[in-house]
Amino acid sequence: MAKLSFDIDAVIAGKARLTDQQALELYHNASLHDLGQWAHAVTMRLHPEDYRTYVIDRNINYTNVCTAKCTFCAFRRDHDDTDAYTLDNEAIGQKIRELVSINGTQVLMQGGMNDRLPIEYYEDLLRYIKTNFPTVHVHAFSPPEFVEFERFFGMDAREIIRRFKAAGLDTIPGGGGEIFTPRVRRRIGIGKCSGDDWLRVMRVAHEEGMNTSCTMLIGHIEFVRERIEHMSALRDMQDYALGLGRDGETRRRTDEVAARWPGVFAKSAFDPASESQTPKTYGSYTAFIHWPFQRENTPLGRAKEWDPEKYGPFDDSTNEDILRGRVVRMAGADEYLRMLAIARLYFDNIPNLQSSWVTMGPKIGQVALMFGANDMGSVMMEENVVSAAGTTFRLNEREICRLIRDAGWIPVQRDQYYNVLRRHDGPDSPDLVPLADPPVRQVRRIDKQYIGSAPGIDDGADRSVHVQLPLLGN
Ligand code: SF4
Repeated sequence: MAKLSFDIDAVIAGKARLTDQQALELYHNASLHDLGQWAHAVTMRLHPEDYRTYVIDRNINYTNVCTAKCTFCAFRRDHDDTDAYTLDNEAIGQKIRELVSINGTQVLMQGGMNDRLPIEYYEDLLRYIKTNFPTVHVHAFSPPEFVEFERFFGMDAREIIRRFKAAGLDTIPGGGGEIFTPRVRRRIGIGKCSGDDWLRVMRVAHEEGMNTSCTMLIGHIEFVRERIEHMSALRDMQDYALGLGRDGETRRRTDEVAARWPGVFAKSAFDPASESQTPKTYGSYTAFIHWPFQRENTPLGRAKEWDPEKYGPFDDSTNEDILRGRVVRMAGADEYLRMLAIARLYFDNIPNLQSSWVTMGPKIGQVALMFGANDMGSVMMEENVVSAAGTTFRLNEREICRLIRDAGWIPVQRDQYYNVLRRHDGPDSPDLVPLADPPVRQVRRIDKQYIGSAPGIDDGADRSVHVQLPLLGN
C-alpha cells in the first residue's frame, strides 16, 4: 500500500477534504488497486443501497452546424456543407415518440452552435416537447451553447435561461467543459467559451433553481495538474451552489468562492434581494462525468503521440511540443479508472459519478462501479458526437442491467433526479427475461439462472458433449 503524507482514512470517512496537492499525490503515488479500494469505500458510504442506476434517454443533436472549431470534434459542419442539417419539431418529435415507446424518460439535446437559429426556434421546440410529451425530461443546451446564444440573441445568459425554463427546459448538461485551463482551451476548443464562462452559465443555472451536471475530457494535451485545477473549480462552484440561500458557515464559504473565481462572477450578476431573481429553490451539480478523448476523424487526432523515451515525463514537461499541444497523451483504462477514483475521493459535495461505458466499453464501464461510479449513465438510443470520432460501443437496457447485476447490484432505472423508477429484482427484469430468439439453445431454468447449451458445441453426433453456459445477452 502506498505511503501517503496525509490521512486517507479521514478522507474516506468524510471527515477531511482532499486538497489539490493531495489529489496529485494520489495520482502519482497510489496504486490503481488502492485507489479503487478507497474510492469504492467512499461510494459505499454515499450510496449504501443494494442497487446501481441507469437512465434511458436519447441524444438528439438538433443541428450539426457550429460556429466553433474544436480540434477534437468530428461532428461539426459549416452552413454550406452538403450534410449540414437542422431538425424541425416534427423530426425531433418522431425521435421522442420512439424513445417513449421503450420506456425512455429523457432527451439530451445539444447542438452545434448555429448562428442562424433565433431564440424562437428553441422556445418553440421546448414548448412543442412539453405539450406533446409532458412526462419527458428535457436535459439540454450545454454552457458553450448558452454563451453563443448570448451573442446570437443579444441577451445575458440569465435571461435566456429564464426564458428557456419557462418554455420547458428542465436541466442543463455539462457538455463542453473539457479542461478549463486557458492553455488547453485555446488549443482544443477553438471558438468555444472560456472556462470562466462555462462556470458562469452553470452558476446562473444554479441560482435560477436548475440542476446541471459537470464533465471533464481527459487524455489529450492536458497535464494532470490541470485536471485537478478543473476539478477544484467545480468543487468550489458546487460549494457556492449549495451555500445559496443558506446562512452561517455555508454562506461564508459561498462568499469565499466568489472572491476566488472573479472571472466566473464578472457578468450575469445575481441579486438575491430582487424578487424577480429569487427562486424558492436553488440548483447544483448532480453528477460528474469524465471520459477520454477519442481521436479518430478529429484534427487533434493527427497530433503526435506522447513518447516517454523522447519527451520525458509528461506532467510538468517544459518540452515545447507538449506545451504547445502538438503531442497528445491518450488515456486508456488505467488512466480513466485512476481519475475516476480520485474524483470520487475529491468530490465530497457532488453526489453521483457516472460510468463512461460509451467511450470505455462495457467491461471497463462495469469495473467503474468498483472505482467510484454509482451510476451507469444512459441507455442511449442515439449518439452522434462521440461516435463521429470513432467510438462504437452501444448497449441496450438488457445489457446494462446485466452488467450491473453481474457486478453485484440490482439494476434500477432512474430519472434525472436519481429517483428510482423501476427496480429490476423480479423474473421480468430486462436482463432475466429469456430472449425470443436466444443465442443459445435448450434454455431452461436451474435455480435462479437460465442455462443453455453453447451454440455449435452440441451440434454433432456425440450428444455426450454438452457445455452449459449462463444465458448471454443479445
Ligand atoms: S464539440 Fe461541439 S462546440 Fe465544438 S465544434 Fe463540435 S459541435 Fe461545435
